[in-house]
Amino acid sequence: MKILSDPRKINQLIRRAKRNGKSIGFVPTMGALHAGHLSLIRQAKRDNDLAVVSIFVNPAQFGPQEDLKRYPRPLKNDLALCRKEKVDLVFIPEDKMMYPEGFVTFVNVEGLSGRLCGAARPGHFRGVTTVVTKLLNIISADVLYLGQKDAQQAVIISRMVEDLNFAVKIVVMPIVRGNNGLALSSRNVYLSKSQREEAQVLFKALHLAKLMIRHGQFNSSRIIEKMKELISRKKQAKIDYVAIVDPKSLGPLKKIGRDCLVCLAVKFGKTRLIDNLRITCG
Ligand code: AMP
Repeated sequence: MKILSDPRKINQLIRRAKRNGKSIGFVPTMGALHAGHLSLIRQAKRDNDLAVVSIFVNPAQFGPQEDLKRYPRPLKNDLALCRKEKVDLVFIPEDKMMYPEGFVTFVNVEGLSGRLCGAARPGHFRGVTTVVTKLLNIISADVLYLGQKDAQQAVIISRMVEDLNFAVKIVVMPIVRGNNGLALSSRNVYLSKSQREEAQVLFKALHLAKLMIRHGQFNSSRIIEKMKELISRKKQAKIDYVAIVDPKSLGPLKKIGRDCLVCLAVKFGKTRLIDNLRITCG
């Protein structure tokens, strides 16, 4: 396993591999790797000749009041996990290599970036799309692996790839959850024991939505109301949003048709958790 921090060096290595006919699967991460990340890495290994993982806590996607400084960075453990998964290349750039002095160019996916999480985190998705653009230019992957856990991010990046003619295929992998239903996230380490217990309600609320739809309730606001009621029973839960949206446009759905995305963001103390469930009918 090669570990590189210089964008030019990894770019050269990858170009050489591609000239030799090797296909490249790429998994961008912010590190603190868990089984969710590993499912993406394993798929990248299965599908391609070379699997590349980036570990970069991207400052451009954190707001001034957010957790950039305290975001977990267990690099040694991350590298051990990558080695175990037989990752071929790990890219760990330094901030100043990605954003050197004078950096002023950003990529923004209009509209989609302002919805849902974008409303509470202005500039977040602009930071994501900018760094993913840079990473794709550096890595020039054939396939990009993303998680459904960050459903809005996957929609926005897919839109950007289509709009800007990136020559990359996108594969979105299902959400990996713990036994208690809680979606795995690097931020779960911030949760106290009681918050972690309370946070199980998120998956229950998503399932309540599924059950209501299965029983013929297609009125989104009725479902959202019941979900909010359930979540609010937890003392430490502060709802940011609960929404039922079109899976592509992320626009709100008043009436549920064939396909919808139920998604939510809820804070437990300072920790903001997101989760979602795609529900198809008929
Ligand atoms: P992050 O390190 O949080 O930026 O995540 C890197 C990638 O892993 C993103 O595409 C995430 O959507 C994906 N990911 C994070 N958590 C999970 C999970 N529980 N299940 C599946 N994919 C995940």
